[in-house]
Amino acid sequence: MSEIIQTKNLSFRYDTELIFYRLNLSVKTGEWVTVIGPNGSGKTTLLKLLTGLLYNDSEIVIDGIRLKKNNLKTIRKKIGVIFDNVDNQFVTETVKSEIAFTMENLQYKRKEINHRIEKIARQLKIEHLLDQDPHHLSGGEKQKVALASILALKPKIILLDESFSMLDVNERKEILDILKQIQKEEDLTILNITHNLEEAYWGERLIVLYNRSILIDGPTLDVFAHDKLLNRAGLEIPFMVDLSMKLKLYGLIDRIILDMDELVDALWK
Ligand code: ADP
Repeated sequence: MSEIIQTKNLSFRYDTELIFYRLNLSVKTGEWVTVIGPNGSGKTTLLKLLTGLLYNDSEIVIDGIRLKKNNLKTIRKKIGVIFDNVDNQFVTETVKSEIAFTMENLQYKRKEINHRIEKIARQLKIEHLLDQDPHHLSGGEKQKVALASILALKPKIILLDESFSMLDVNERKEILDILKQIQKEEDLTILNITHNLEEAYWGERLIVLYNRSILIDGPTLDVFAHDKLLNRAGLEIPFMVDLSMKLKLYGLIDRIILDMDELVDALWK
């Protein structure tokens, strides 16, 4: 696997405040990496740097190309960003035309547009919503439409920016499960930038931002085992993860389970 996102000694400051100091982030193609950090640790700033919305001379390499002011278009084609509140992003009156919108602007052929909509709608299980107004959907459905619009453009990387933090637990689990499936099918790279440690469960690697740099970087379950370090960064292991890890240690279950009903089922077996 090759590196698809790399920052090399990334340092960044707003006028007086130093946000990052020599931060080395490296993500391989096809990985799902969660970047977690308390409020103010620089999550949004990192996302803006990776997409060129903020810029300085630090070296950032995306899919083999060094990010520069004159190649932002090429870089941005590789990256799809899903924000938390997509409501005011919708510009059309049906889900179908919403997904088609950017493809139409880019003058894709009608046949190709229809083909992609059909496939994405199937993958995201939103076929029944295609003729509805996206503004009238539930929170989870809206995020699915936003995701569909991005996936239709076939980015190599998806950046999640607190994308599912407004959703309830079940909606969040559903969309992350679906995205996981799509990620495997399409060999997508996912960088989930969030303050919700529970979401780390979907990624194989977990990076904790703290004090202008990376505090821990490792396989998710290994990082979860460093509870004291996590606490230092103001993070607490989610109750269900903690409980599952203990039950797993005693051999009572074989995986981390976030859903209480599912956990009870697994314990009964
Ligand atoms: P997070 O997303 O982890 O909450 P941010 O990247 O939004 O963190 O912010 C990191 C720090 O940078 C915070 O202390 C914030 O106040 C400061 N900051 C964010 N944006 C700006 C800006 N445009 N100008 C000056 N300081 C900023």
